[in-house]
Amino acid sequence: MSELITVSAETGEVQNTPVNLLDLSRSKMVDFFLSIGEKKFRAEQMLKWIHHYGVDNFDEMTNISKTLKQKLKEVAEVRGPEVVSSQFSEDGTCKWVVRVTSGSCVETVYIPDGKRGTLCVSSQAGCSLDCSFCSTGKQGFNSDLTVAEIIGQVWIAARHFNNVPAKKDRSITNVVMMGMGEPLMNFDNVVDAMNLMMDDLGYGLSKRRVTLSTSGVVPALRKLGEVTDVSLAVSLHAPNDELRNVLVPINRKYPLAELLDAIDQYMSGLPDKRVVTIEYTLMAGVNDQPEHATQLTQLLKNVPCKINLIPFNPFPHSGYERPSNNAVRRFQEQLQEAGFNVTVRRTRGDDIDAACGQLVGQVADKTRRSERYIAARQSEAG
Ligand code: SAH
Ligand code: SF4
Repeated sequence: MSELITVSAETGEVQNTPVNLLDLSRSKMVDFFLSIGEKKFRAEQMLKWIHHYGVDNFDEMTNISKTLKQKLKEVAEVRGPEVVSSQFSEDGTCKWVVRVTSGSCVETVYIPDGKRGTLCVSSQAGCSLDCSFCSTGKQGFNSDLTVAEIIGQVWIAARHFNNVPAKKDRSITNVVMMGMGEPLMNFDNVVDAMNLMMDDLGYGLSKRRVTLSTSGVVPALRKLGEVTDVSLAVSLHAPNDELRNVLVPINRKYPLAELLDAIDQYMSGLPDKRVVTIEYTLMAGVNDQPEHATQLTQLLKNVPCKINLIPFNPFPHSGYERPSNNAVRRFQEQLQEAGFNVTVRRTRGDDIDAACGQLVGQVADKTRRSERYIAARQSEAG
């Protein structure tokens, strides 16, 4: 039997936990059906029901026999994360707050832009990496999301839009792992979930349209190239180690030279020609000066890339400010003059606080970092 037998730590009672089929990659789904004495093709049917048609009720699965439905009801379920709230902006941006098993809440944002519709997905409740300008980091860390909780965010949005992958005009054309958390710190679950995003029996997205964003966890980035070929974005934010050590503390462990080498290894291992996206959040007076642009030009001169500038999005007690539009334009132009392809990320969903770095969720912080952070800011403010 495939159901999980667990013993309650509190009562000592034996409990049968149903298997959540939303948690299963294609190969695990096959294993599950084999384990209950069913044929492999059932896995394909099930994946389609769940991910193509958004069905979570076995009774609605018309090509499944009555006996199998009964068997499934005894050992399995299809359970997406609970939607705590959903908000819809005037500009079409949508935000869902979902509760995960640990009790924390994370956020998922949908950003329409012409024919493109990008879903920004979270990978962890909070983040342990503590970048100095990121509100997720300031909330500390609570838990890694399960596969069901990661792919469940796509599932929820797809159900909302009635996004059947086989249809031509799909609402969700791209997924970026740029919500809350550091995807490479939750490696296996993120890889399984991204595989479902790209699977024809899942969401059928091309590998070019699924992007993982990392702050530079170098050993995990090296491992990533061995198991997948999604597109890559790297959060650089500083053109030298001294400044990056402050803004992105993981840099102290894996400095720029190592990071650039791992990026090169990942990109050159891809089967097709693509470039890495370099994300650079601009903070007034911190990393937005002409000398920073000059250093960045030097640093990236041999890195095929496109640069995405993100004007800092403020949040309470951040201690940083967004540069003026002129300062952003000057920085962009300096890089463009040096021959780089540079875009500036527009802030979307302003009215629902859906911008990068503003995703707050509700993290039951294990590290108590958020308390210490607020206390320190308050004492600085006198
Ligand atoms: N942990 C991953 C992905 C999540 S963050 C990473 O760091 O890449 C997604 C992007 O938003 C990152 O580039 C991050 O640095 C940026 N970001 C975080 N806080 C921000 C803020 N307050 N303003 C603008 N961008 C921010
Ligand atoms: Fe974590 Fe990314 Fe925020 Fe850094 S920027 S704290 S890695 S979510």
